[in-house]
Amino acid sequence: MTADPIDRNGLSPRFWERKPLTKMNQQEWEALCDGCGKCCLNKLEDEDTGAVALTCVACRLLDDETCRCTQYDIRHQFVPECIVMKPDNIDDHAYWLPQTCAYRLLWEGKPLYDWHPLISGTPDSVHAAGISVQGRTVSEFETPIEEWEDYIIEEPN
Ligand code: SF4
Ligand code: SF4
Repeated sequence: MTADPIDRNGLSPRFWERKPLTKMNQQEWEALCDGCGKCCLNKLEDEDTGAVALTCVACRLLDDETCRCTQYDIRHQFVPECIVMKPDNIDDHAYWLPQTCAYRLLWEGKPLYDWHPLISGTPDSVHAAGISVQGRTVSEFETPIEEWEDYIIEEPN
């Protein structure tokens, strides 16, 4: 079993079913991330309709194997535009988050899936369920932005 890079120890059982997003503490909030990596894929947004298309072109800091940010703590030095999601800005960002993202699911009043590490007890279940971007991405460095339209994909779910 792969060690979980997110600290999910000592949390109240199924806290996400009893606490609203806005009341969660820092550890609870961070523990909601399933590590799928989908929010680290570049998206194309239609200026007129607001429709968001997902591409498989990954942020330069995403590790395609682990689906983790390789420089999470200091990522803004390299990617200043990386969004920090918080309880007080989730309303602004839920619309572009992946359908299976725990933050979006809970924001929409839906339950988490059984493959979520908080339920399965292991981060491996996200990859096993085919939800993550593991082995599916191309590099932002090697893919000119003019070609991103050719890399639009359906969300893995
Ligand atoms: S899409 Fe959501 S659950 Fe997946 S890595 Fe991003 S924040 Fe975490
Ligand atoms: S900087 Fe890190 S967390 Fe932000 S989009 Fe890139 S890989 Fe994801």
